[in-house]
Amino acid sequence: MNSLAQHDLSDAATLLRTATDVTLLAHVRPDADALGSALALGRVLCLRGALVRVSFAVPERTPESLRGLDVAGLVVPATEVPASAPLLICLDTPSPNRLGGLADRVEATRVAGGSVLVIDHHASNLRYGTHHLVDPDAEATAMLVLDLLDELRIPLDEPMARCLYAGLVTDTGGFRRATPATHQAAARLLQAGVDPDRLAREIIDDHPFAWLPMLSKVLDTARLEPEAAQGLGLVHAMVPAEVSALVRMEETEAVIDVVRSTRDAEVAAVLKEQRPGEWTVSLRALGKIDVAAAARALGGGGHRLASGATVYGTVDETLARVRGALAAAPLI
Ligand code: MN
Repeated sequence: MNSLAQHDLSDAATLLRTATDVTLLAHVRPDADALGSALALGRVLCLRGALVRVSFAVPERTPESLRGLDVAGLVVPATEVPASAPLLICLDTPSPNRLGGLADRVEATRVAGGSVLVIDHHASNLRYGTHHLVDPDAEATAMLVLDLLDELRIPLDEPMARCLYAGLVTDTGGFRRATPATHQAAARLLQAGVDPDRLAREIIDDHPFAWLPMLSKVLDTARLEPEAAQGLGLVHAMVPAEVSALVRMEETEAVIDVVRSTRDAEVAAVLKEQRPGEWTVSLRALGKIDVAAAARALGGGGHRLASGATVYGTVDETLARVRGALAAAPLI
């Protein structure tokens, strides 16, 4: 048990015990924590007899690497999400705008008298629901879902455990940032039947060959700026739209993990071109600079050591804004 308030946990459990029609939403371009958390909780509700749907605004289909998590076929296209729901649960999503085109479901649900349960671990969470399970000290939203399942006294089955493990292993950087309590939670998930090697291969280490030539093009753009980020160093690379078009979202999202291994830079940034003049910027820090603050200055958000934002402009303008945000970001 982490620092969640017990009354928040019991209120959320009460909502779930009586739910008969539930929509669970993950943020746009869902990662394993957002979608795994939604699918684990969705499965529990489904087994209790509720009508359950899980969705996200983009992309149109579940990212290939995460499809194995949806054993019961709970994911529906965003176009099939009703305008409002008796119970809407938003997972790993600090603000409604991170729901993209589904953001309007939050207000519509409130207006219709429904409940909005927000389950999240971002420090920047706006507490936009009617009920909240928000704990910035939790390493993953999956940990909060596990607390909720314990509160409900739900025995873990393998598909639930697999979904939660997927969130834990990715959000903790392969357990490098996991506390003893999180390792203990992971042990429970393994005891419930998760195959950690197979799962990590499926969701983290599995790329088509096209990843290698794509990576070669992207790494050719890598530059080191030792003076940037308050003299701590910045390494950056960019993924033009014509290069990301050759691969899946999984390959593009994995570039940052290669770039951030550069020892000469405190901060790693990858600029991904979504369309001409629109860049998604991923930021990672080694531990000395708060990149969540830098991302907020750019209109985005995230965690102290891992964050992101969407920036509009040319690549040079975008880089200049990233440098400026890092120059002003607080040191940890
Ligand atoms: Mn997360």
